[in-house]
Amino acid sequence: MRFVDEFHDPALARSIANGIASVSTRPVQFMEFCGGHTHAILRHGIRDLLPPTVTLRSGPGCPVCVTSQPDVDVAVAMASLPDTIVATYGDLVRVPGTTESLEHARARGGDVRVVYSATDAVAIARQNPDKTVVLVGIGFETTAPTVAAAVLEAAQAGLANFLVLPLLKVTPVIMTALLQSGELKLDGIICPGHVSVITGTDVFEPIPRQFGVGCVVAGFEPLDILRSVRLLVDQIEQGHPSVQNAYERAVTRDGNAVARKLISQVFTACDAEWRGIGTVPSSGLTLGNEYSRFDAAARLGISVPPAHEAEGCRCGDILRGAAMPADCKLFGSACTPAHPVGPCMVSGEGACAAHFAYGADA
Ligand code: SF4
Repeated sequence: MRFVDEFHDPALARSIANGIASVSTRPVQFMEFCGGHTHAILRHGIRDLLPPTVTLRSGPGCPVCVTSQPDVDVAVAMASLPDTIVATYGDLVRVPGTTESLEHARARGGDVRVVYSATDAVAIARQNPDKTVVLVGIGFETTAPTVAAAVLEAAQAGLANFLVLPLLKVTPVIMTALLQSGELKLDGIICPGHVSVITGTDVFEPIPRQFGVGCVVAGFEPLDILRSVRLLVDQIEQGHPSVQNAYERAVTRDGNAVARKLISQVFTACDAEWRGIGTVPSSGLTLGNEYSRFDAAARLGISVPPAHEAEGCRCGDILRGAAMPADCKLFGSACTPAHPVGPCMVSGEGACAAHFAYGADA
C-alpha cells in the first residue's frame, strides 16, 4: 500500500477498499475514462488497494492524446505560415507530428504561444492586428465553453484576425463508440468529473440501458475514485447497472446550463477523427454557420501530406483501453517524458506519462 498514507483519511481509504473486497465476487473490468483519474489512480496506488477481481483500464479522456496525427500536422503547418501566431495549451506543443512538433516549428522561427485560457488567444489577436492568430481548440466539454466564449468575444470585438482550429471532442459519443466496437469487455465506466460538471450525469443514462454497463461520475480525490469503484462493484453484484454520481459536490443531473448554451450557440456536432479510434460520427464540435468565419481550417485552406504515427507507438491501443503502457516496446526506453515518441508520454493526462512517473506496475 505504497501511497495510502498520502490519503486525507488512510483509515477510510482502507475501509472502502476492504468493503470492495468483501462484496466483489467476480472478475470485473472498469474503464477510467479521464486521464486525470488515471494519474490519480497511479499516483495514489489505488490499484494496490483493490482486490484482484477488479481491473482498471485507462480510456481516451486525454485531450492532447486523442488529437489525431493529421490534426497535429495541420497545426504545425499553420505555425509555419508567415504572419501567423498559433496559440495552444501547453502539452500539445511537444506532441510529435509526422515530421515535427509545434515545438520544432517554433525552433524554426514559427510563432507558437502557450495560453492558459482560450480568451488569452483573443488578447493576443487584439495586440497583433497585423497577424493572424489561430487558437488550436482541443479538449472535451470542459474546454468547449471557454473556446466558445473566446469566439463570442472576438465576434463582439469585430476581430477579423482571430481564428480557431476546432478539434473539440464529445464524451458520451465516444464512450458509446468504444462500447459498440466490442473490442474491450467492460463492466463499468468511471466517468469524468470535470466533463460532468458541464454535461450533468443524465447524458450517460443511455449507456446502462443500451450496453448494461454502469456509469459512476467521480471526482479526483483518491477517496472519490475508491468510492466510485465501490458503487460500480455494488451495481455488478446486485445486477443493476445504472448512472450514479459520486461527485455530488460539483456535479448535478443537468450540469451547467450556461456553459452548455455557450457550446450550442457557437458549435455544431461534426464527425471527428480520434487517435487510435478513427473517425467517429458526431463525436466532435465544429463552428456553426453563424461563426464559421472563425474556422481556421476553412480560412487558411491548409492541406498536409498523409500523416503517419511513430513506428512502434501504441498510443492508439492504449487510448482504446486495449493495451497498457508496458505493452509498448518503446515504453521507458526509446520513449520517456524527456524524449516522448507519442502523445501519451507527453501529456500531463497521458497514461504512459502516469505509468512512467509512478511505476509501470502501480
Ligand atoms: Fe507511444 Fe511512448 Fe506510450 Fe509507447 S510508451 S505507446 S511510444 S507514448
